[in-house]
Amino acid sequence: MNFETDAIRTQTENALHREHSSPIYLTSSFTFASAEEARAMFNDEIPGNIYSRYSNPNTDEFITKMCQLEGTEDGISTATGMSAMFTSMSALLKQGDHVLASRALFGSTHQLFTTIFPKWGIEHSYFNLHRPEKWESMIQENTKMIFVETPSNPGLDIVDLELLGKLAKDRGIIFNVDNCFATPYLQQPAAFGADIVTHSATKFIDGQGRTLGGAILGKREVIEEIRFFARHTGPSMSPFNAWVLSKSLETLAVRMDRHCENALKLGGYLESHDALEQVRYPHLKSHPQYELAKKQMKLGGGIVTFVVKGGIEGGAAFMDNLKMISLTPNLGDTRTTVTHPASTTHSKLTEEERAAVGIAPGTVRISVGLENINDIVEDIEQALQKVRS
Ligand SMILES: *Cc1c(COP(=O)(O)O)cnc(C)c1O
Repeated sequence: MNFETDAIRTQTENALHREHSSPIYLTSSFTFASAEEARAMFNDEIPGNIYSRYSNPNTDEFITKMCQLEGTEDGISTATGMSAMFTSMSALLKQGDHVLASRALFGSTHQLFTTIFPKWGIEHSYFNLHRPEKWESMIQENTKMIFVETPSNPGLDIVDLELLGKLAKDRGIIFNVDNCFATPYLQQPAAFGADIVTHSATKFIDGQGRTLGGAILGKREVIEEIRFFARHTGPSMSPFNAWVLSKSLETLAVRMDRHCENALKLGGYLESHDALEQVRYPHLKSHPQYELAKKQMKLGGGIVTFVVKGGIEGGAAFMDNLKMISLTPNLGDTRTTVTHPASTTHSKLTEEERAAVGIAPGTVRISVGLENINDIVEDIEQALQKVRS
């Protein structure tokens, strides 16, 4: 069926009381009819739930939908986005392996590469997003995985998925894409050759800032290997969160349509604003990778970034003068949220390091919510007026 229908109609089948909406299965374990059934289930000879660290009807429903939406064969749900990133990598990498990644990464993913994996002898190198002709030459003999995020956070740089998908396939390297910013509604990395698609479900998939969650999706053999690792290390998603997230998927398409419509309008409005130095939105012609963004993303996404004149002070003053928009690190919420990376998430970096990930002193990231666009624009406009004066 079509995307919206799969997202709404896929349900756990074991409804006991003819409930129309899937119930929550808050149970840590499941019973067996006999010793023989227990033996067969433990040995994967017959399917069935055993213990909620392995599987549960709610996590099954969530992950079945995620696979349908991303066009992947199999998947695993995890407690958070970071547990999805960590599990998808640590299950497949070993001492001496190398990961080739884009530098424009979520902060904690950058920490995995720079401080956590080196403890286990796993190395990485970062390629320059704007020099695709150099990517192939950076592949080493021990390169086991290519890892990217696109659009990137918060710079909204676009990475060419088709190019990397082909490169990874030619060289027999696992291609892992964090698809959190786009969601499967806008972009399906598996169609461009990604072996693994990872998610923070905390963001647009939840969509209302309530729960944490993650997903690892991909080809059957790869997921089987990761499943073994996950089963014994325990990054499992709770049934309650899976229930919330599965419900959230039912409205993903309509929410994303509106997030993108509002974000495009906001980006267009701000483009010529004289209190700003730069405005970025993937589906605005002014974006340096507009053509690529049009090719691989159905719509431009729910995030707009811009650079307020006046550096760090300008960015901070803009935040302080907002009346409605929430100052909070989460994104993908029904509510419009704002962050100023230079004074918060990226304050420990030097100015040069920040520039390398697309963050200027005055860069502000807006996650455009589902409020009336006129109210969003009005709040931003009045705050910009105060920064200027
Ligand atoms: C938030 C985020 C993560 C981490 O997800 P959590 O659910 O917070 O653990 C990973 N990647 C990207 C791009 C994110 O925005």
